[in-house]
Amino acid sequence: MITVQEAENRIAQSLESLPSETVSIDGALGRVLREPLRADRDAPPFNRSTFDGIALDYTAIERGQAAFPIAGTAFAGSPQLELTDSGSCVEIMTGAPLPDAANCVVKIEDLEIESGIAQINEDVPLSAGYGVHPQGSDCKSGQELLQPGSRLTAKELSIAASIGKAELVVASQPRISIVTTGDELVGVDETPLPHQIRRSNDLALQAALVAGGYDRCERFHLRDDRAETESTARSLVDESDVIILAGGVSKGKRDFLPEALEAIGVQKEFQWVAQRPGKPLWFGTANSNGRRRYVFALPGNPVSCFTCLHRYVLPGLDRMSGLTGADSEPIRLQSDFQFKPPLALFLPVRTSIDRNGQRWAEPLPFNTSGDYISVASTQGFVELPQEQETFASGDVVTFRPWLT
Ligand code: AMP
Ligand code: MG
Repeated sequence: MITVQEAENRIAQSLESLPSETVSIDGALGRVLREPLRADRDAPPFNRSTFDGIALDYTAIERGQAAFPIAGTAFAGSPQLELTDSGSCVEIMTGAPLPDAANCVVKIEDLEIESGIAQINEDVPLSAGYGVHPQGSDCKSGQELLQPGSRLTAKELSIAASIGKAELVVASQPRISIVTTGDELVGVDETPLPHQIRRSNDLALQAALVAGGYDRCERFHLRDDRAETESTARSLVDESDVIILAGGVSKGKRDFLPEALEAIGVQKEFQWVAQRPGKPLWFGTANSNGRRRYVFALPGNPVSCFTCLHRYVLPGLDRMSGLTGADSEPIRLQSDFQFKPPLALFLPVRTSIDRNGQRWAEPLPFNTSGDYISVASTQGFVELPQEQETFASGDVVTFRPWLT
């Protein structure tokens, strides 16, 4: 049996980076950026009015002037106007460029306009630069705005759009096969016989993978049959980059996966990890058609399967994609906890934030690693290290959220 850390290290050492590809910005949501994004011009690109009102030279106000003849109207989307006389002003709309000679915008609410003259109300607090969003104050042309390794979510896409990146270089999507195993399992639309159950792991795994940004998934089901396991696994290893199997990996008489995978040439990197749930976890690699393939065989128990996906598979996919940033965060335990076996414990928790902004994790005692119903009321799991048996309320531990 190896430790959680050792399992993580061996997976990390085996993984190679996925190739890059260029995609349209319309299809880039959730992908991992593989190029730096730089500003193509200053932002804002000109001194921009932040109000509807009048733009003027503040020195005129310092000289005591309060009434300004209107020399023109600056609209958003119209070229910059000039202010030739520092004693006059231009009407200006939010988002319009200020004339070079103007450095202050007075809001429409703070003035009266009559017969082409704008009269500023008394006691309006103004200053040089008031109402102006200066050119280049958000970023300078050429500045790096996003680094490779960023996940492209809504806010990153708004940056890409603003700098004219209609196409983006991103990590390619791995082709993922999700394979459930078990003679007892029937499909969601079938009526199980008394000794059968409906399979749920495949949908749960797929949903979490899609939420993690990996949507090139296909689902398969295998009966507990040695020959079928071997032939299906062989073709999936040829056609997928990542194969995630669920069940059939432990010591049962029909747990054929470990031997079948080795028989078709998948190199076992490890099996058996000192953890609960998920002890039988198996990981191997293969080369097929010049590409490296990764095989994660997860225990079939729904909680084990779901936890191992979050602890090993999703971080592995992120690493292959080149994603930067932490996949776990510190949190405080909300109650004392004891766990004697010399295993790391992945414990589903309900999280909350107290009045001081402190996040807490309330361990959820679940019946067995088959208890997927309790897990639905949790937000993720904490990892309690193997070396420690007792944990006190307030102890800081590592938290990983379920992907939603
Ligand atoms: P196994 O790892 O194949 O021994 O399965 C362990 C337990 O998980 C058994 O009770 C299985 O019925 C259950 N199980 C395995 N695969 C699934 C699945 N896809 N959906 C729901 N339960 C499953
Ligand atoms: Mg089974």
